[in-house]
Amino acid sequence: MYEIYALKYGERDTKTCQFFYRDEEHAPLTLHYFVWLILGGPQPVLVDTGFLEDDAEKRGIRNYVRPSAVVERVAGVKAAGIKMALISHLHYDHWAGHSLFPNAEYWVQKDEVAFWTGPYAGRSAFSGSANVEQLARVVPLNYGGKLKIVEGDREVLPGITVHRVGGHTAGLQIVSVKTNSGTVVLTSDASHFYRNVETGQPTQIITSLPEMLAGFDRIHELAGKEKLIVAGHDPLVADRFKVVEPGIVKIA
Ligand SMILES: [Zn+2]
Repeated sequence: MYEIYALKYGERDTKTCQFFYRDEEHAPLTLHYFVWLILGGPQPVLVDTGFLEDDAEKRGIRNYVRPSAVVERVAGVKAAGIKMALISHLHYDHWAGHSLFPNAEYWVQKDEVAFWTGPYAGRSAFSGSANVEQLARVVPLNYGGKLKIVEGDREVLPGITVHRVGGHTAGLQIVSVKTNSGTVVLTSDASHFYRNVETGQPTQIITSLPEMLAGFDRIHELAGKEKLIVAGHDPLVADRFKVVEPGIVKIA
């Protein structure tokens, strides 16, 4: 059966008014940056790839380590041995580190690729979330047969399914994994914090607000009564699941 890890590779401090939709509080808020690893199947499956040193410096990230280094702290896993990487969306913090996993096939939604090569990607409301150089790599990777473009929901291995929810980005996908303790839902940025999915509070970066709200419902449906929900950037992940060592949280 599957084992799932949340692997932290950086942190950033901001304020709630900078993050939550129409929030008027100026309370401090810390984001944790994760990639996720699913073991126990025919091959390890990585969810998202993080970013490199350039984004860490440019965006004021604290305690940055290369996502590949955190992945390799999990016993028996080598970054070069990752053949399957499910990409929740193409924002810099989920995609810009893809070259750290050079042998992966990257699974991404069609709507996501279309958006970032489409008419609004370059507008300032969206472009700040992109690492343009790394985004451009989508084209040669696609021509090289390394990009797996999917549409909607798709079971990628038995018990591991991607679900397109959109909302935060045009083709955001979340991942559900069937485990012995219930269905784990890796929400990525469909719910950056537990506050999002648990109170229906949107975030500020949005391509479709209705889709974001529907995404919260979808997360609850998929998770079922066990509520094994793993929020995308929430330090509380370490409180709700088991910390194996600093930065490594075992979800199931
Ligand atoms: Zn993110």
